Amino acid sequence: MPETSDPTALKTIPASGRVHIVGAGPVGLLLTALLQSMEGFSVRLYEKRHEYTRTRMVQLAPYLVADSVESYRTDSIDGDSVEAIFDPPELDQGLAFRQSIPPDLMALLNNWTLGFCPLNAIERSISDLIDARGSGVERTAAVVTAEDAIAMLEPGDVLIDSTGSRSLLRDHLVPGSNGVNEGANTLQFRLEYALVITFLYGQPYDCNEHCKYYKNIENAHYKFIPMVHRTHHDGSVSHVTGIINISAEDYEAMPSRFDGESLRSGFPKVAQSMDRFIDKIKEETQGEVLGDLEIVRIPLDLYRARHATSRQWLIGGPRDHPFASSPVFLAGDSAVGSPYFQSISLGFECAMYLAGLITQRDLQLREMLDCYELYTYKQWLRVYMRSKMIKHNKDLFETLDDPLALLDKLHIY
Ligand SMILES: Cc1cc2nc3c(=O)[nH]c(=O)nc-3n(C[C@H](O)[C@H](O)[C@H](O)COP(=O)(O)OP(=O)(O)OC[C@H]3O[C@@H](n4cnc5c(N)ncnc54)[C@H](O)[C@@H]3O)c2cc1C
Repeated sequence: MPETSDPTALKTIPASGRVHIVGAGPVGLLLTALLQSMEGFSVRLYEKRHEYTRTRMVQLAPYLVADSVESYRTDSIDGDSVEAIFDPPELDQGLAFRQSIPPDLMALLNNWTLGFCPLNAIERSISDLIDARGSGVERTAAVVTAEDAIAMLEPGDVLIDSTGSRSLLRDHLVPGSNGVNEGANTLQFRLEYALVITFLYGQPYDCNEHCKYYKNIENAHYKFIPMVHRTHHDGSVSHVTGIINISAEDYEAMPSRFDGESLRSGFPKVAQSMDRFIDKIKEETQGEVLGDLEIVRIPLDLYRARHATSRQWLIGGPRDHPFASSPVFLAGDSAVGSPYFQSISLGFECAMYLAGLITQRDLQLREMLDCYELYTYKQWLRVYMRSKMIKHNKDLFETLDDPLALLDKLHIY
C-alpha cells in the first residue's frame, strides 16, 4: 500500500483504544469475546435484535481448532488449497493466534466442531460468556445506520462491521461511493438457487455418495442431496440437512420458508424427490421423521468485498473523513460469503486473525490493513475454489444417468 503524505495520519492504533463492533451475530460476538480479554481495549457492541431466535443446525469446520499445520490440512477438498495459498509462516501465525485464545472460549469452539449445533445456541453461549466475564464490553441495542457508525468514530477508534451479508458499510469503503452505489465494493457469483431442507429422524442415519446416488435413482429431475457429515446423531436422533437445486422460476414462485405439507401441495415434483429419498432412508433404518420438515429457499451466492478494510480512505480519501483516521474492517458475511455451509467457520477464522492483528500494538496501521486485506483475499481464494468444486461435483452428480449431459459438463482441457 502506498505511503500517505500526511504527517498527522494515524500510524498505529492507540494503546488504550475503543473498538466498535456493529452486529452481534456469531462473528461479531466471537470478535467481542476475543478482544474483551485483551488488555487496554474497550469494546462497544451494537445489535438490533433483542433475541437470538435462529434455530437452524449449523456445523463448524474442525480446522478451526487445529493445533498443527497437518491437522489444519486434513479436509479432503481444501487441504491442498491451503498449502497452495498460504505460505508456511502464515499458517504458523494463524496457529499462534489460535493458541492465544482464552480457554473458556476455546472450550466452546472445541465443542462446536464435534457435531451440529443450533445457530442460536452458538450465539447465546458466546453472548453469555461475554456477560459472565463482566467487564470491558458496553452493549447497545439499536439499529445502527452507516451515518451513526461514521459519526461515533473518534480518531484512533477501530470500527468492525459484522452485520452479515447485507453489510452496513461494505459499499462505504470506496471513497466517493458514499454507500449509494450498491454493489460498488462487491464481487458476486450466483451459483444456483436451492431449497435447504432440514428434519429430525428417529434413528441413526449416515450418508455417503453411493447412498445419495441410489436413493435418488428414480429422481430424474430434482434430486435431494444431503450433506456428507451433515447428519449428526444426538442419542438415536439424526439431524439431516439436504439441498434440492431449483430453477430461478421455482425460486420466484416459492415462499421464503415453508413446511413439508405446503411443499407437497404447492410443488409436488420437488416434494416427490425429497419424499422418495426419505422413504428409502426409512426402508433401510426403520425410523420416522420426527416433527415437521423445515424448508427455506435461498440463492446460493459466493461473494466478497473487493476491499475488506478502509485502506482506500487512508491512501487517497479526503483527510477530514473519519475513515481516514479510524480503521474500518469487515468481518464474517460482511466481508466474504459462501454457500454450502462453510461461512461461519470462514468468518470465525478471519475474526481470530483480525483480533490477533489488532492486539499487536506496535504494528503499523498501514501494515495491519494490508495484512487483513491479503488474508481475507487468500481466504476468499480458498473458499472460491472449494465452492466451485462442490458445485461442479453436484452438477456431475445430477447428470450421472445421462452420459451425454455428463460429458458436456466435463471440460478436461
Ligand atoms: C439455511 C442456512 C444454513 C446454514 N448452515 C450453515 C452451516 O452449517 N455452517 C456455516 O458455517 N454456515 C451456515 N450458514 C451461514 C451462516 O448462518 C452465516 O454465515 C452466519 O450467520 C454469518 O455470521 P455473521 O455474524 O457474519 O452474520 P449474521 O449471522 O448475519 O449476523 C449479523 C448480525 O448483525 C445484526 N445487524 C445487522 N445489521 C445491523 C444494524 N444496522 N445495526 C445493528 N445490528 C445489525 C443482525 O441482527 C445480526 O445479529 C447457513 C445459512 C443458511 C441460510
